[in-house]
Amino acid sequence: MALTGIQIFKLLPKTNCRECGEPTCLAFAMKLAAGKADLSLCPYVSDEAKAQLEEASAPPIVTVNIGVGDRALKVGGETVMFRHERRFENPTGFAILISDTMDEAEVDARLERFKLEYERVGLVLRPELVAIKCESGDADKFAAVIDKIKQSSECSIILMSDNADILAAGLRVCADRKPLIYAATEENVGRVIDLAKESSCPVVAKAADVEKLAELTTKLTEAGVSEIVLDSGSRTLRKVYEDQVIIRSAPLTKQFRPLGFPTILFPCEMTDDPMKEGVIASAFVVKYAGIIVLSDFQGESLFPLLVERMNIYTDPQRPLATTEGIYEINNPDENSPVLITTNFSLTYFIVSGEIENSRIPSYLLVQDTEGLSVLTSWAAGKFSADLIAPFIKKCGIVDKVKHRKLIIPGYAAVESGGLEEELPGWEVLVGPREGSLIPAYLKTWKA
Ligand code: SF4
Repeated sequence: MALTGIQIFKLLPKTNCRECGEPTCLAFAMKLAAGKADLSLCPYVSDEAKAQLEEASAPPIVTVNIGVGDRALKVGGETVMFRHERRFENPTGFAILISDTMDEAEVDARLERFKLEYERVGLVLRPELVAIKCESGDADKFAAVIDKIKQSSECSIILMSDNADILAAGLRVCADRKPLIYAATEENVGRVIDLAKESSCPVVAKAADVEKLAELTTKLTEAGVSEIVLDSGSRTLRKVYEDQVIIRSAPLTKQFRPLGFPTILFPCEMTDDPMKEGVIASAFVVKYAGIIVLSDFQGESLFPLLVERMNIYTDPQRPLATTEGIYEINNPDENSPVLITTNFSLTYFIVSGEIENSRIPSYLLVQDTEGLSVLTSWAAGKFSADLIAPFIKKCGIVDKVKHRKLIIPGYAAVESGGLEEELPGWEVLVGPREGSLIPAYLKTWKA
């Protein structure tokens, strides 16, 4: 259970040495309790206290690591029921289903669709997992499909079979990729425990209902398997929804550890209608799914799910921000215009996109305004002449251009007079308010 700031404070050295960056141990304890500092910042905390604090600060829902490399996925690690309480930690992973009974052309086509990816506000949005299901009952056939997928994709893998011997055959091919083993059931749990321990791979516990699931995870954890994902067995929207709420709230509000694990859901087994499947998946991106397995990927359904996931798993207390600095667009030179904007990612991408569209070589200066947009940061006093001027002087733009003209956003027009006072020798020009007007404005540029 999470400790309060005062409980944490009692375990700290209480010397107020400030090496953690905080003025007192109490201030550091409060930040730790709020999840805004890391214990490693205090070099003087004793091993005994560290062990107590780490145990107490472990998330009620276990973090499970699946896969290796670029498409490795972390699920679970959640600490709140509702996003506005703090934030959701580890985004839902999306898996495409491939059966070992599919012909080669279909497997290739699905692997091709697995490569779908989109760039939004500087982030690459893409799926992570391929769920490989043994429907043939033939271990060799299953192993051959796994090998083909492993050779042609960096995907993380879910191995699906109720038969432990078939799972063992799959693990022999891809254990080095740390796949998720699906699934341990009441019938095969002993054998799957051995597989999970031998391969150090995470495992799904699957049962007929939530009570039986808790019994199954107890068996797994008592045997030393700690990385577990839950499948409650439900396959109707209403029942899955209920299970999701029970599974999420049990560890968080009742400290019931046997259900303190992320979940895997199968919209692909809940409907045959691709449109409905997308809608069901969408409901469970919001309602706590750790992994969602889809029957196939199509751009029109995958893209909105990826965008939804990005939004749900964005920290509501921290706006998406771009790094402060000088951005060169369309190969500018010493006579190119210099524009400035704030580091709210959406603002940056709109402004930089419009400059790019204008084809006019330009410098775009992005000032750190804690991720706020132009109007908001100006209203909050974070994009004012006395803050912009020092940034212009230190950012290095004076070494890149011969002229001394700065184009500020129309929404910050009232800062132009103050800026000319703070930046002697500079002429401050007021640009348009709307990004869409930037290309026309830049066409009037003269150094
Ligand atoms: S570094 Fe440790 S001992 Fe020093 S002020 Fe911070 S919490 Fe206290």
